[in-house]
Amino acid sequence: MRIPVALAVVLALAACGGADEPAAPELPVRYDAVALADLDSAEKLTVRCEADEAKFRERFAALESWPGAPTIDNYYRPLDSLTVSAANLVMLASSLGGVHPAGDVRAAAEQCELLVNKLFTDMGLSRPIFEAVSRIDASGADEETRYSVEKTLLQFRLGGVDKDETTRERIRELSEKISEIGQEFDRNIRDDVRYLELDSVDDLAGLPDDYIAARPPNEDGRILISTQYPDVFPLFEYAESDEVRKEMLQIFRNRAYPQNEEVLRNLIEARFELAQLAGFANYAELVTADKMSGSPERVDSFLKDLKGYTAETQDAEYEVLLARLREDMPEAERLEVWQNSYIRSKVRREQYNVDTKLVREYFNYDASRDGILTLVQDLFRVQIVPWETDTWHEDVEAFELRDGDEVIGRFYLDMHPREGKFGHAAMFPFAWGIEDEQLPVAGLICNFPRGTEPMQHGQVVTFLHEFGHLIHWMFAGHHGWSNIITPEWDFIEAPSQMLEEWIWDYDTISVFAKNADGEVLPRELFDSMVAARDFGLGMGTRGQLAYAGTSLGLYDRDPAEIDFDEHTADMARTYTRFEPLDGAHSWASFGHLNGYSAIYYTYQWSKAIATDMFTRFEESGLRNVETAMTYRQKVLARGGSRPAEEFVTDFLGRPISFETYANRLRGRSSQ
Ligand SMILES: [Zn+2]
Repeated sequence: MRIPVALAVVLALAACGGADEPAAPELPVRYDAVALADLDSAEKLTVRCEADEAKFRERFAALESWPGAPTIDNYYRPLDSLTVSAANLVMLASSLGGVHPAGDVRAAAEQCELLVNKLFTDMGLSRPIFEAVSRIDASGADEETRYSVEKTLLQFRLGGVDKDETTRERIRELSEKISEIGQEFDRNIRDDVRYLELDSVDDLAGLPDDYIAARPPNEDGRILISTQYPDVFPLFEYAESDEVRKEMLQIFRNRAYPQNEEVLRNLIEARFELAQLAGFANYAELVTADKMSGSPERVDSFLKDLKGYTAETQDAEYEVLLARLREDMPEAERLEVWQNSYIRSKVRREQYNVDTKLVREYFNYDASRDGILTLVQDLFRVQIVPWETDTWHEDVEAFELRDGDEVIGRFYLDMHPREGKFGHAAMFPFAWGIEDEQLPVAGLICNFPRGTEPMQHGQVVTFLHEFGHLIHWMFAGHHGWSNIITPEWDFIEAPSQMLEEWIWDYDTISVFAKNADGEVLPRELFDSMVAARDFGLGMGTRGQLAYAGTSLGLYDRDPAEIDFDEHTADMARTYTRFEPLDGAHSWASFGHLNGYSAIYYTYQWSKAIATDMFTRFEESGLRNVETAMTYRQKVLARGGSRPAEEFVTDFLGRPISFETYANRLRGRSSQ
């Protein structure tokens, strides 16, 4: 899931709102009152944003100077309402900044995001509000309310609210600076589309015919292959030319370089200073304090554990790939990183009978969308119907999620690439769901091929993964307080990663995996895919550990000690068998270094939990609606209303164990 830059801080800080007298719950700006049509020009967006922000400031001031004895109803509720209203605006701005087709609207949206984030920073550092919340007697309130208040007070403390005024002023400046620098970091990646120029169609030998046909030579007879995903990933997998793959990877891994060098330096320095001011040794310590892991040391030992589990599988896979490479290149001394995907694909085809080119003919966007919507409806007993509403682009589809007569959430699907659009795949939150106040709203922003064009199996997995975030957002968005919707960040990926398993279920995918002639993906081919599935898991996990180590290592020490290229190369050597790619500066386009900062490890942590949770479905059957509904109620719907460890334990009927994942990484399980 993508958490908007500064909202990442806010999600946790979630607690602010206001009235100068005992007030009924009220949302100054409801999501459904913000019409997209009112925001479709830069000017309209700016006017609206500034007017709303001014209203929020008034309420904030009223809360700061509120004279009475604060209670849940007269103080905490208005505080949360203000938070929700401001979050509606900042989430919408952040989303439009990533997807709007007009560049000036995107720029205005980014400005709006900064403006509202500044308000959140000020609220998070407000001593009067912190003191008022501290004085609230919540002992008579329900459990969720007590937990919400507890979380709010913790977030205030993590943010440095108890420091002196000079320190808080500096924290305020740094927070603002971090929002701005983070946006610049993301923008540099998003806007930097680069091209590999090829002289002849021969350079594309090995690629599927439809791929080549869709990329004809230009007037000068040159073929341009962009760094956008639908262009690059098939090329890495299929292009026969070693040179072409190498050059493309060098271009791909140099996106946003050198622009992001100074930007990243400033970002990690500002975060380091902020963490120290708030009383932490470094930013990694601050950002893990409210996670399941709890500390950078625990994260580091987790990464080392996973390195141990994958030791034998990585080496075994590497030897298989190297041996296969030598059949084509007898002189090869080692496998290079640009050969990885290509050779792995060959091994899958030759040794496991999985021809990924053939497989992709059975998948396309339209059918996958329908299949995924059907799966979710069947499993969780919900209905998905079109939602009549404005969107920001004609490609965007909108839907409502219903449970019987009741609408329980709304979402957008913006699924194909276009210029200036966020280039990865993610769920963008548009609005928190607050029970009896507003419905949860989210958007999937992806870059898949269109319509009935062939699609890679991995892209279908990504689609379902992102859809997992979406339904989590929908099911969780029915609590009374905004800060108990989202669970700990290192749990957030678990439901999505678990849902991916259904793409490995023949009953599920045979419904929609059909080629142009309407023939279903043959069972035999599917069985081969399953057999080949974990081939590459050892090396793939090591690649993830290298990213996690890069992310942690940029934030768990004094930035003055860090050389980006050296650190990235060091992590590649620590965790993978690949030599770092010559002349590449891959950290410059590693977008998570902003949004996730030190905590890229969360993917692996969540994966360990997802693997454990999935054992319940393995026991009961993947299409067992009763298990799915129990999971919906005990895990998804709980959101962040209790520590994740507690509700997962409740679902499993025993404590969480990482052993199932460890065994899978060791190659000792059937799946
Ligand atoms: Zn995810």
